[in-house]
Amino acid sequence: MNDYDIDPGVPEAIERFKLPESLGFGLVNAPVMFEAEWRDGRWERGRLKPYGRIELWPGARALHYGELVFEGLKAYRVGQPRPNLFRPDANCRRLQRSASRLSMPQVPEALFFQGISSVAHACSAIMPTQSGRSLYLRPFLFGTESGYMLRNSRTFCFMVIANPVESYASGSMQVVIERTEVRAAVGGVGEAKASANYAASLRASNAAVEQGRTVALWLDGNEHRYLQELSGMNLFAVLDGELHTPELDGAILPGITRDSLLVLARSLGYPVHERRIALDEVLEGIDSGRCGELFACGTAAIVAPIAMLAEREGREYKLRHTDVVAKQLRESLLAIQERRAPDPFGWTRELAPD
Ligand SMILES: *Cc1c(COP(=O)(O)O)cnc(C)c1O
Repeated sequence: MNDYDIDPGVPEAIERFKLPESLGFGLVNAPVMFEAEWRDGRWERGRLKPYGRIELWPGARALHYGELVFEGLKAYRVGQPRPNLFRPDANCRRLQRSASRLSMPQVPEALFFQGISSVAHACSAIMPTQSGRSLYLRPFLFGTESGYMLRNSRTFCFMVIANPVESYASGSMQVVIERTEVRAAVGGVGEAKASANYAASLRASNAAVEQGRTVALWLDGNEHRYLQELSGMNLFAVLDGELHTPELDGAILPGITRDSLLVLARSLGYPVHERRIALDEVLEGIDSGRCGELFACGTAAIVAPIAMLAEREGREYKLRHTDVVAKQLRESLLAIQERRAPDPFGWTRELAPD
């Protein structure tokens, strides 16, 4: 017995689904989704449905006041009969912290796992099995009540959608230093995985792409001197052969990949440091050779090398090395995620049979 409902259209939706050869990242939708509603102060029974449009009041608060927080995690099934998830408990806790920052109701752990497991389980037969491919799960929580009063929504929806994905290969990134606009300031919602942060970052991201670069680099909101992160990935610098990453200052999103890399790198013998990192230190380090490598990390790309930092005006700071330490970390982490290597940290979690 499931303790959620399964729409009668689900088996046919899965049956009809054909996994295309080319997947991209987020281009192909899994044929099912999970949905549960919060009303009168409690969660109603969840439901697994065929993937499709949802109905929303035009005045829904998620649309007007940005009441939306989300998560992203991958299910892997490389050489395994059953899918396994990577640190899903950490995603669950982060969703709870994000919801709490936006005064939204908590998604209980059982409901979170019901959502991701029901979708991953229904999709297990159509999950990519080649190394580097996976099923990306996107849980999200949003306010559905219509109205403009300055308070929280009284009704919410928790959903999980999914996408079979290829490894998100960004190539070697060219990163534009954003010196004027701010993604997030300490005290704001930067450390919540809130859609609002992405809205704040889009103009600079677009400007970077228009200049033929890849993404923008965000600096702290106060002094515009210290590294924060990229719009959807955390940042690491290799300085004198040691790993440095900006400390979680309240504006930076606490990435699970970031956290995993700190643990993994330490176990591989790298000294690791979480601290405030001045942009000038990195730029001087690139010139002097002290900063040999920069890379970004996140669930989608895992570890993505950075080829250069660039000023909007054009000055370029090219890294001497790209994808040396980054490659070692990416391959080590992916081997654990795909369960091709031992998992000494207990990070992977096999889905229960039903
Ligand atoms: C999700 C996200 C990350 C990466 O977090 P992971 O848990 O490693 O996927 C980094 N920065 C921002 C702004 C994010 O939204």
